[in-house]
Amino acid sequence: MPKEARPVILVTGGAGYIGSHACKVLAQNGYFPVTYDNLSTGWAEAVKFGPLVIGDLLDTAALDAVFAEYQPRGVMHFAALSQVGEATRDPGLYWRNNLGGSLNLVEAMLKAGCRDIVFSSTCATYGDQDGVVLTEESAQRPLNAYGASKLAVEGVLRDFGRSDGLNAVIFRYFNVAGADPDAEIGEWHQPETHLIPAMIEAVAGAREALVIHGKDYPTHDGTCIRDYVHVMDLVDAHLRGLRWLEDGRGSRVFNLGTGVGFSVEEVIRNCRAGTGRRVPHEFGPRRAGDAASLVSGSQRAQDELGWIAQRSSLKVMIEDAWRWYQTGGYLKQLSERKAEG
Ligand code: UDP
Repeated sequence: MPKEARPVILVTGGAGYIGSHACKVLAQNGYFPVTYDNLSTGWAEAVKFGPLVIGDLLDTAALDAVFAEYQPRGVMHFAALSQVGEATRDPGLYWRNNLGGSLNLVEAMLKAGCRDIVFSSTCATYGDQDGVVLTEESAQRPLNAYGASKLAVEGVLRDFGRSDGLNAVIFRYFNVAGADPDAEIGEWHQPETHLIPAMIEAVAGAREALVIHGKDYPTHDGTCIRDYVHVMDLVDAHLRGLRWLEDGRGSRVFNLGTGVGFSVEEVIRNCRAGTGRRVPHEFGPRRAGDAASLVSGSQRAQDELGWIAQRSSLKVMIEDAWRWYQTGGYLKQLSERKAEG
């Protein structure tokens, strides 16, 4: 195979929600994104901007093969399981996939002489901290196996930095929402557990009602507060993180959020404004593993990466998610998948 002229970036989880948006932005910026994904939660249809290699992070031979074939210059590592509820029910699954898979990836990278990685970590590594704005220096006390497994991967990256010169930009995401404004790709989980797309399903009549998980949290209206960031802003930060590594600036951790929190009830009110329709909803019990409030201090990303969240108002995030839902692509692919059983 002739060597690809553009710099190759291996995108684990490139068939998933955030990874597919990252592939689009990488391709638009002169990179060649190679997706490595086991399609357990991602979709082949979302891989539109470079090749798809179907493989699992737990398969070390397949990982070695993808590094040998494409010789990536760097890695963006999105592939992970990411549902708090599932993590609480089945922690082994999370430790095996998220920690074990990441360890295999790092070892394959180093074997192939690849030393730059941009890693998706999470605000769930912080746990519940009485509503304070969380900075990169805040203590990390995860409440569930999802956050704990991501925190452990941060430790792996740090240790291999010391031992082998691995360079890692670690992004701790707050709540990612919205979709590609061109509606080529978007958020698409089956089943959907995340608030904004679940709300959109309720608005569209694809689910009976949105269930609000808990009304007795110590917040102003009793529902959980989160800091929502648009997926396009998030992947813009990843591009900046990659360039940071290319410039030889070394390992660094950045929060990605807007610094403004909204309660579940406030998001629902904005959804009505963004879609023009009422969100059918009801209250249910708390969901195990949920923190009352997670709000980011993202000054570091602004100061050091020059990152500014451009599309992260609730209105724009909901409008973009709604447009994606309405394109029909979403529904068509979902129904095809269902038909396949
Ligand atoms: N949530 C809810 N109903 C849903 C989905 C989510 O009330 O159907 C709440 C959830 O309890 C949390 C917030 O919305 O307080 C954001 O949850 P999501 O799963 O989107 O992201 P997480 O914060 O778990 O990463």
